[in-house]
Amino acid sequence: MRRKLVVGNWKMNGNRAANASLLAGIVAGVNAADTTNAACAVCAPAPYLAQCQDGLAGSALAWGAQDVSAQPGGAFTGEVSAAMLADFACAYVIVGHSERRAYHAESSELVAKKAVAVLDAGMTPIVCVGETLAERDAGQTVAVVSGQLGAVLDLVGERVAQIVVAYEPVWAIGTGKTATPAMAQEVHAQLRAQLMAKNAVAAETVQILYGGSMKPDNALELMAQPDIDGGLIGGAALKAADFLAILHAA
Ligand code: PGA
Repeated sequence: MRRKLVVGNWKMNGNRAANASLLAGIVAGVNAADTTNAACAVCAPAPYLAQCQDGLAGSALAWGAQDVSAQPGGAFTGEVSAAMLADFACAYVIVGHSERRAYHAESSELVAKKAVAVLDAGMTPIVCVGETLAERDAGQTVAVVSGQLGAVLDLVGERVAQIVVAYEPVWAIGTGKTATPAMAQEVHAQLRAQLMAKNAVAAETVQILYGGSMKPDNALELMAQPDIDGGLIGGAALKAADFLAILHAA
């Protein structure tokens, strides 16, 4: 049995005051039953990682970042290294989110290097994959997501058991359109098979999250699918009540 994992992706939202009440609301609402069955984390903008560390240390919640540099350090103005994120006790780092791929032209090869940088620093990369609507309509969903995952698998080698995968159909992100549980499960099963081909033992334990308009009212049936091991939550992670409802569902 894989333990469920629910991760909030705050994206470029929040400020110190809003974060403080969101973190306090989540901590107050998490109960022991939730965290027995599911792990939970929030991925905050880099300037607020210290605030997450202060607000969550000693709680059942972990925290993480939304991106990382593939470079170890040095003259890379504006970049944040994996070692810096580890310095703030991040447990997770999202890599290859579709917004990074689309707006910052990140290739799957770069995403793979970022995943390795995260692993090298002792954290867990959450590797995002997903097709656009045009790609889905053209019947390319499996080819796209397996290409994106394959680039990472090539580079992480035997450390495949240490990654988390997130399937996020681009057309479902922030749109209110969710993949049906059956649609999502079909892609998750493909991703599992790809992991299986790489390392059958690891494939049993790697958590594959669904992301894309996961909400309290659809979380339960999505996470009831055999290969959906949790969620990467954007919009619904910004309200403590919604985020907690998804965690309860897990
Ligand atoms: P959403 O975002 O839940 O707002 O659709 C998910 C994500 O982009 O990680």
